[in-house]
Amino acid sequence: ARLAPAGTAKAICGFCSTGCSLKIHLNAEGQAINLTPDPDYPVNLGMACPKGWEALTPLAAPDRATTPLLRDAHGKMQPVDWTQALTVFTNRLQSIQAEHGKGAVAVLSTGQIMMEEMALLGALAKFGLGIADLDSNTRQCMATSHVAYKQSFGFDAPPFTYADFEVSDVLVFVGANPCIAHPIMWQRVMRNRRNPAIIVVDPRRTETAMAATLHLPARPKTDITLLYGLAREVIRRDAVDAAFVTENTNGFAEFASFVNAFTPERVCAETGLSRADFDRTAELVTRPGARVSYWWTMGVNQSHQATRTAQAIINLALMTGQIGQPGTGANSITGQCNAMGSRLFGNATSLIGGYDFGKPEHRAHVGGILGVDPAVIPEKASRAYDKILDAVEAGEIRALWVIATNTAHSWVNSGKFARLRDKLDFLVVQDMYATTETAQQADLVLPAAGWGEKEGVFINSERRLGYARKVARAPGVALSDFSIFKLVAEAWGCGPMFAKWTSPGAAFQLLKQLSRGQPCDFTGIRDHAHLEAEGGIQWPYPESPAVPQPAAPGRERRLFADGKFFTPDGRAKLLFDEPVPLPEPPDAAYPFLLNTGRGSSAQWHTGSRTDKSAVLRKLAPTVPWIEINPADAAPLGLITGQEVAVRSRRGETKALAVVTAIVQPGQVFMPMHFPEVNCLTFPAYDPHSRQPAYKACAVALDVL
Ligand code: SF4
Repeated sequence: ARLAPAGTAKAICGFCSTGCSLKIHLNAEGQAINLTPDPDYPVNLGMACPKGWEALTPLAAPDRATTPLLRDAHGKMQPVDWTQALTVFTNRLQSIQAEHGKGAVAVLSTGQIMMEEMALLGALAKFGLGIADLDSNTRQCMATSHVAYKQSFGFDAPPFTYADFEVSDVLVFVGANPCIAHPIMWQRVMRNRRNPAIIVVDPRRTETAMAATLHLPARPKTDITLLYGLAREVIRRDAVDAAFVTENTNGFAEFASFVNAFTPERVCAETGLSRADFDRTAELVTRPGARVSYWWTMGVNQSHQATRTAQAIINLALMTGQIGQPGTGANSITGQCNAMGSRLFGNATSLIGGYDFGKPEHRAHVGGILGVDPAVIPEKASRAYDKILDAVEAGEIRALWVIATNTAHSWVNSGKFARLRDKLDFLVVQDMYATTETAQQADLVLPAAGWGEKEGVFINSERRLGYARKVARAPGVALSDFSIFKLVAEAWGCGPMFAKWTSPGAAFQLLKQLSRGQPCDFTGIRDHAHLEAEGGIQWPYPESPAVPQPAAPGRERRLFADGKFFTPDGRAKLLFDEPVPLPEPPDAAYPFLLNTGRGSSAQWHTGSRTDKSAVLRKLAPTVPWIEINPADAAPLGLITGQEVAVRSRRGETKALAVVTAIVQPGQVFMPMHFPEVNCLTFPAYDPHSRQPAYKACAVALDVL
């Protein structure tokens, strides 16, 4: 009893998109002291990964931003109060807009803050501050899935529920390593009692590949060729669900004709896979009566032909009718805790609520609900992240407001951002820490509360809205992002426009109204308390007709059980293109192909939070490493632990060698968590989603 907490509260974890619930133990003052995973939540069932267990630690880091900081005439950051910070923010940005036009200011945001916060930011920036360009770091992780689903299904609508991991007979992971990237989802796979076949398509022999039934180490970015070859096999083996295709899809005849050229011989020659492995895969995904599910993450999304690769997966699920039923689906696993919230309510690519900027009736509808004159709503979507940076380079954008993201570290070809800094007249960074690579370059730092120090909703990968409570006080005078946005609105002079946004709870009610009649309708969710009581709720959850409540324990619901999609004619589209060669293949000068990705379940993105935990630092290397195959290491005389210089046409960094057959000959891998890695990566982008292709660039190695 002496050690019993005075109380408990629940919060959805603020790292990845799994959306685990954590039970926070509180002292008598209602402040968090430690946590345990929530045993009653249908997502994590009492489990958490190392990041979740350590979620409170980053809040107590000594380098928290505790007060606004302003760069003085000598280049030193000096503490100022909020009044001065907001005055400088407003004066500088308004004068830049007055001199160079409203478009001279842009925002780079995040998938890490609460749904209500990102919605308020999107509304404030575009409707209040007149900013045309706002994009977020979801461009780096989920833009491809967003576009692929929108084009194929008519709405950004991941169809699955996590229970599908447990009731699938064949699980195909393409460019995904859930063992370490989504460990709790992987635990759900481990709970599958149907003796499933697990197929992993990945050039690396990842932790997930090691645990798979079949690992297909296709050459980097030839996954699209493999998927088209499998589609041809589905047809040849008479495994097409003809009734589903006829009633619910468009484009099948054209697709069937297109994939006819992807013979097994061609697929094996281009991917490097054996014919036996290809045939075994075809046999497994066409097994009569089997429930087949397809899952993808960054190996697909972060490539130069990402959208069509995602759609090659979608096409396989559609042509076999493997969608909308237990254990099936073409399933994108999201990256960040609230990437889905950003996709629906961020007001960047889609008008807030999933509407179109280009449609006057949508602008009028949104304006009506928010009490905003539709005339202030832009008629087109924001430019993408890379185009915003191009506009900085061109001198067109002169100021950036960067919120809860670390562009200087994470953006592809990061040397470009470093060069662009000199082009900016003013850089504002709003973050928990003043020490991120981006914050250190700021003219003004606005100190933000972190996860646990504020409340709001995250939407996870299976479309589940979950509520995170405030369980700790932010340090110093740091404020929630929601409060900062409200203060900015007041200081800017547009406060009355956001009078309805009195609190995250009030904002939730506005977003509910915006969702009404949309595929993501959640008007049946009363409020935050309802979400908490239900253990999260998946959209759609309309008020009318009331959603039938599935039986416990999972309370899961999946989309498209009736075969009806969100396109105007209710049919899904099969979309495809010829495979495109690598933008920067290896050559004599740069003979290795570099792949980047998550290195450990204990590290999160640029490490701005996970590096604060001694426990997490012990669980993952704290220095950058590079994996190289023994066949490549031998001629270089390279052994594990030796330092190498890694060079690309854009930059150079150092790393410790790890000689391992995890990577194929000719390929090397580096984790993305170290700031130097992206000085190497090549700035190619998917033409549909503008997502950067982090996964393939040519590098050379010098043994030091
Ligand atoms: Fe948090 Fe993701 Fe780990 Fe769950 S799996 S505890 S959501 S980081």
